[in-house]
Amino acid sequence: MDTSPLLSLVLFDMDGVLVNVSGSYRRAIEETVYFFTGKDVTPDMIQRYKNRGGFNDDWVLTHEIVGDFGMEVTLDRIVNEFQRRYRGNDWDGFIMEESPIIQTATLQELKDQGHVLGIVTGRPRDEANWALDRFGWRKFFSLLVPQEKQDDRKKPDPFPLLYALGIVRGAGLPVHAEDSVYIGDSVDDMVAARAAGMSAIGFIPSYLNPESHGKLLLDRGAHVIVTDPDMLPHTIANPGEWGKP
Ligand SMILES: [Mg+2]
Repeated sequence: MDTSPLLSLVLFDMDGVLVNVSGSYRRAIEETVYFFTGKDVTPDMIQRYKNRGGFNDDWVLTHEIVGDFGMEVTLDRIVNEFQRRYRGNDWDGFIMEESPIIQTATLQELKDQGHVLGIVTGRPRDEANWALDRFGWRKFFSLLVPQEKQDDRKKPDPFPLLYALGIVRGAGLPVHAEDSVYIGDSVDDMVAARAAGMSAIGFIPSYLNPESHGKLLLDRGAHVIVTDPDMLPHTIANPGEWGKP
């Protein structure tokens, strides 16, 4: 076991990296848009909005799409309808359709390598903790920076990542941005990691095209692309191999 890894702080985006949300958040976007507009929005259309950047918050994204379809609705009403579908009445909505992307054994391996693990997510705290408890993952993560901590400085702003770094440093670990890595699946994740001075790993979930999405994330600052979550311990332990064929 290496107790002083090159990249000591490993921060994860949650949706599309740890958790498959194609049947939950993305479905809630589709059905909320349909409720207000009667129009179908395809997964490809949602991805195009995400790829434009600035749509890290799915409520804001849904609001934008409904507006682009010509309907004027307040953000409050969007959030109400969205959450009714996503959370349901008692955590029995589309959130139940979420599944793990990463294996628990992989998180254990990263811990055993000596990394401090954390989560920086656009999710509200309750929804992040719910997923962590459901998959038995809470013990792996030393910190969580949820939506509530980010105000209007969400990714691609580096603020949530620097806030996470501040928590770790405040706990007495002498970690710097350059010893830290952020793993995310969106252009906003890559831009935020670079702006924070951290390494950026672009992760491609199985429902996205690895070639086109990998190229997009590299264009937006990814240092390396990972398509298989089982490879993360090796990739993170060997930054010297990044960018080499
Ligand atoms: Mg994501």
